[in-house]
Amino acid sequence: MNTAIIVAAGSGTRFGGDKPKQFVDLAGKPILVRTIEKFDRCDSIDKIVVVAAEDLFDEVQGLIASSGFAKRIEIVAGGKTRAESTRNGLSAVKDDGGVILVHDAARPLVSVNDIERVVEAANEFGAACLTAPVTDTIKRVSEGEIRETVDRSSLMSAQTPQGFTAGLLRIAFAEAADLAGVTDESSLIEGLGEKVKAVPATSFNPKITTQEDLRIAEAFLGGAGPSARPRIGFGTDLHRLEPGGPLILGGVSIDCDLHAVGHSDADVLLHAVADAILGAMAAGDIGSHFSDADEEWRAADSRIFLAKAVELAREKGFAAASLDAVIDLERPKLRPHIEEMRRTLADLTGLDVGRVSVKAKTGEGLGEIGSSRAISASAVVILFAARAA
Ligand code: MG
Repeated sequence: MNTAIIVAAGSGTRFGGDKPKQFVDLAGKPILVRTIEKFDRCDSIDKIVVVAAEDLFDEVQGLIASSGFAKRIEIVAGGKTRAESTRNGLSAVKDDGGVILVHDAARPLVSVNDIERVVEAANEFGAACLTAPVTDTIKRVSEGEIRETVDRSSLMSAQTPQGFTAGLLRIAFAEAADLAGVTDESSLIEGLGEKVKAVPATSFNPKITTQEDLRIAEAFLGGAGPSARPRIGFGTDLHRLEPGGPLILGGVSIDCDLHAVGHSDADVLLHAVADAILGAMAAGDIGSHFSDADEEWRAADSRIFLAKAVELAREKGFAAASLDAVIDLERPKLRPHIEEMRRTLADLTGLDVGRVSVKAKTGEGLGEIGSSRAISASAVVILFAARAA
């Protein structure tokens, strides 16, 4: 049985902010959840141990419970140092038959493929460490002055995961005289005089330490992360028309001899756009959020519905990227009102008006639209995962 120990007990003092960085949102999900996900998806990992500060157990438990992971996940209390935290995680692993991987919670971008390669190398060699070439020229500096240039041809930076056969890692911890200065587990194995296989990382696997690192990781996920891919929503609506104005459309009151009939103000354009936004999130439709059996919404201003749909999107970490809508109506002519509708939609959705399109079509005298017995609208909205502030 192979176990991954994910060390998430750090306080992240270099990161700033009011919560430890492993709980900070990265493109719509906490960093820790993204990290656990990688090991949850990895076929060669059977069990996951998360090492967390004791006062954050409830928060970690909540994240795990709401994320629906497939594998068994145990939470263990962290220690005063990184190495003590790993040792505590190790004590939760009862089985000595497999490989133990140790991974920083702050490396959420690690690829499943690289995790598998570390497991394989640890199985074969006893100990393995994911590494990356050093690309900067390295200087030895003392008292603010460069003393020498270090030959970097043999230098690699040590990443995680690092993998070990369980027995070897236990011996390494048992033999270590002092854990205070130990920043990775490979160095404990080196201390035993044992070899550690270097496994070159095949994909971008930064440790998120600063706000800048977070923004780089977000940009990286924006290009490739499935949760950051845009979502398209589609909405339509239709209402009956009856004599007597005004007609409320796109939040604009249009002076004419017809009005749309409905429980609310029957604004088909705002209803179609709200449905498109809810649809992009697979969050039901306007009727499931604002029932037409609810007296609260009788004669309601439909701008409320659209504003609530936008607010829900924001809460879920989405923002609109563009909006295109079509109104089907025989009369009156909508051309004089289109710009005001666009500005209203831009205000409500937070979009630049240049990304809001409203078009109008007639029914050519045909059918319910053509005989001015109905008005309808359709809208397409694109949502994307909003950047964390
Ligand atoms: Mg409607």
